[in-house]
Amino acid sequence: MSKMKVGRPDNEEHGTYTIEVTILRKEAGTNSNYQGFIHFWLTGGKLGVVDELLYFCANERPGSINGSVRCLGLLRVDNITTMPCCPHCGMPFRNRNGDIQAFDTQHFMGSLKDLSTKVAMHFRNLRNNADIVLVRTRTDTSFHEAELDRSMSPMQRAKMKDMLRSDREISCYTKGRLEKDLAAGGDLVARIGAFLNA
Ligand SMILES: [Zn+2]
Repeated sequence: MSKMKVGRPDNEEHGTYTIEVTILRKEAGTNSNYQGFIHFWLTGGKLGVVDELLYFCANERPGSINGSVRCLGLLRVDNITTMPCCPHCGMPFRNRNGDIQAFDTQHFMGSLKDLSTKVAMHFRNLRNNADIVLVRTRTDTSFHEAELDRSMSPMQRAKMKDMLRSDREISCYTKGRLEKDLAAGGDLVARIGAFLNA
């Protein structure tokens, strides 16, 4: 089982879920070039000790163009292995080719506002019951770009991931603190944006 190692503040209320935002590259002084990944975790997971990585249903909603509108319903790995259809959209997990239409990672690219809006949407979809964890790489951007290079061999990519891991900082915006900040006034997207850009 995958495990996310994050120092979570003990004195704040935590969400059932964790939205993990990994920002791989951000050009200094610009607000328009964020890229990275979003992962979803069930806090405490099945065993109550480690976090469990969640998958999302990537089925296209009927009538959507080029997969632009996906189901995005969150799934545990048990759902995918034991159920034929997604409980959110009712469509089969496998397409005609037998490929599973569920993924554990969402890629993003765009402005801070785009990213904050996306994370806020996920937060609301999880009924405001989530911590937001930011994983940010700190220095040399060249290997962050290389990380996105699909032409790398699995071994090269694994090595790159180790480098990223050793060069990152992690911060946590707990459900409890976010709720307090929102109660004090302020817009969800703006609060999340301030956290991601701190
Ligand atoms: Zn679905």
